[in-house]
Amino acid sequence: MVSTFQRIEHIGIAVNDIDSAEILYSKILNSKPYKREEVESQGVLTSFFQVGDNKIELLQAMSLESPISSFISQKGEGIHHIAYLVSDISREMNRLSKSGFSLIDEKPLKGADNMWVAFLHPKTTGGTLIELCQPIPLK
Ligand code: ZN
Repeated sequence: MVSTFQRIEHIGIAVNDIDSAEILYSKILNSKPYKREEVESQGVLTSFFQVGDNKIELLQAMSLESPISSFISQKGEGIHHIAYLVSDISREMNRLSKSGFSLIDEKPLKGADNMWVAFLHPKTTGGTLIELCQPIPLK
C-alpha cells in the first residue's frame, strides 16, 4: 500500500503570549503572520506564518484546560508538534492504529487553517506529538 504522507505541513510551537511571539517570529522570518484563528476543538489561539511550502503555527492556550497549558507547564515554551500533510487522513489513522500507535482522537477533528487533523500520542512515537492533516475541500 502506498503512503499518503506528502510533506511536513507545519511545525507547531507552544507560546505563552501570542502577541509577543508574533513580534518575535516576524523578526526571525522577516514576514508577517497571514492568519490568526481560534480552534475550539483544541482550546487554542493560533497564528500562522508561511515559510516556503511550510508553515509555522504559534499556539497559545485559551484556557487552563487546553493541552497547550499542560504542555507549557511541563516542558515550557517551544516545539509542540510536527504536522504532516496526508492525502487520506482516515486511511492513515486506520493503518497507524492497527500498527499499535495511539491516536488521541478516534475521528479527524476540524483543525486550524481549514484542515482535518488527528494527533498521535507522543508515548507511542518516541516522544514527539505528531499531527496528521488533510485540507478540507472548499465547497
Ligand atoms: Zn498543528
